[in-house]
Formats: sequence, C-alpha cells, structure tokens
Amino acid sequence: MPILSASVIQQRAEDLYQLLDPCKLCPRLCSAHRRRGKTGFCKVGNTAVISSALPHFGEEPPISGTSGSGTVFLTSCNAACIFCQNYQISHLRQGTPITTEKLAQLFLKLQQRGCHNINWVTPDPHLPFLVHALSLAVAEGLQIPVVYNTNGYCRPEILRILKGVVDIYLPDMKYSQDVWAEDFSNLPNYYAINTGAIAEMYRQVGPLVINDAGVAVQGLLVRHLVLPERIAGSARIFRSIAAIDPHIPVSIMAQYHPCYRAVGHPLLGRRLKRSEYLKALEEFEAAGLTTAYTQDINELEQEDLFFPDFDAGESQIFKAQQKHN
Ligand code: SF4
Repeated sequence: MPILSASVIQQRAEDLYQLLDPCKLCPRLCSAHRRRGKTGFCKVGNTAVISSALPHFGEEPPISGTSGSGTVFLTSCNAACIFCQNYQISHLRQGTPITTEKLAQLFLKLQQRGCHNINWVTPDPHLPFLVHALSLAVAEGLQIPVVYNTNGYCRPEILRILKGVVDIYLPDMKYSQDVWAEDFSNLPNYYAINTGAIAEMYRQVGPLVINDAGVAVQGLLVRHLVLPERIAGSARIFRSIAAIDPHIPVSIMAQYHPCYRAVGHPLLGRRLKRSEYLKALEEFEAAGLTTAYTQDINELEQEDLFFPDFDAGESQIFKAQQKHN
C-alpha cells in the first residue's frame, strides 16, 4: 500500500496538476494547455479516460497472484508503437472519460474483489487524475499496493513526485537503439530516457519484494519484449539492468505478434522465431542477471495465448502462464 497518508498523496496530486498545464508530464514536453481543452501528442485532455478496470490474471505471477491484478487500462499513450497489441485503446483511443471520484470508487471495488494490487496501465498522461483518485481511495480505506505499468518513457522529475505513492514499478525496456525506437514507436532519445527512468525507479523501491504468498508487495520488475530481427537490442538492455543491480527481475516476453501497422511490415510483419527468443535468454544469462520470468515459445507457436482482445471482455484478456527460473 502507499506509505504516504491521503493528505500527502493529495499534495503530490497538486504538484502533478501544476505540470498538466502547460503539460510537461512526460519527456515529450508538449506544453499543451490541457486544462483549457488543448491536447498534445497523447491526445489526453483534462480528465482521465479508461478502457476497462478488472481483475487480470495474465500478468507475471507475483503481480497477478491467485486473485488477479486490479488492472486499470487507461486510454491513449505517449508512444506510438506500430505493432501495439493494445492499439484499440492506445492508438484508436477507445475509452470513457471518468471523474477522479469514480476512479477512486473503481480502485476500492477492485480491492473488494480481492485483487492484490491496483495496476495502472499506461498511466503517464493521466497521472494527476490517478494520484488524486488514489488520495480519495486511501482516505476511504484502500490498502493494496499501486503498480505503475508503463512504457518506460518517463521523466525522472515526475517519478520523484511518485516516491511513496507507487509501490511497484513495472516498466518496459523496449529498445536499446534509438533509431528503432524512433522508427517503430516514435520515441526520440528512448534509450537514455528509459535507462534514466529505470534508475530512478530502482532508487525508490529496489528490486521486487515478494511475500510468503508469492505476491509482490514492492519493488521493480522490468519487462522486455523480444522483437524479430534483434530489433529490441536485448543484450544491451540486459547489461544496462545488470549495471544497476543484477537482482532486478526481468520479464522476457516472447509474445510479439504483428498488429496494427506492423501487419505486412518487412521487418516486424512476423512472429518471433524460437531461435530469436532462445538467443535473448542466452544474452540474459551472459549479462549476469539472476531472475527471469519467461514465456513458453512452443505454446506461442500454437495459438495466440498472449493476445488480448479488448472488445472481448474479461474472460479472454491474457491467458499467459509464465514461469520463474
Ligand atoms: S503527457 Fe501527453 S500532452 Fe503531456 S507531454 Fe506527454 S505526450 Fe505531451
């Protein structure tokens, strides 16, 4: 649970509202006057917009646990990955505006349903509203940890405001070469920004801490999606993580599937090969890292086990099983 009181969390929300207009909530620094109806790159305005909020069982085992992660899928994104598997909500921005009061009630309902945590998916453009809602929920008895589930394109200045607010950081490390980050996700200077963000997250919470029931209570777990043609630059990413702390666990994902504008793409228009995933696992070991959550490439070759369908409802979202090496 957040270690800060509701009133202190509310003060953090006020600090974040100051950065909403002109908007400097993420490294794009759009300076959009969002409180006056303007929008920047992410197209989010003066309210949070969500796609769904539900117990989710397809995250890594310590995040999903046995009762599910209380996942809040937020609409839009400050990245623009051509292969985004959530493109209906990130690119097409399917979602519903929601007040902070109703958002707080959603958090409390997810706790009542037994979820192990509140999992904010793509929170960066919505941050003032989320933290404001959190302060309301904590005042009404929210006690479970907050998970910050992000593409990792974050400003350290913003992350520092979240110290004591966020319990678990779940960031992507997508690319180690900026040319691919720009070409395929429109993320300028991604590697330096991403590694800086990871370092700040680690400074706040350290590596992942798991309780006796096998559920994460605090810490950092990095996600890395292996891409075809070695485009993600996995070896350098693993070395970067090891340089911070070799005990940081890494979720090494094999689930790449061409979606959206990657369908038919000359480099990204196919699924990952088994040999490419195994090579990434070798690179993980060579970097000296100790803990990985991996996916079964054989299952992936059979069917779309990891493929979410946001039109299909709760029962079909993520069926992945991952293992702890
Ligand atoms: S949160 Fe959105 S509007 Fe604000 S800087 Fe980032 S992309 Fe631009």
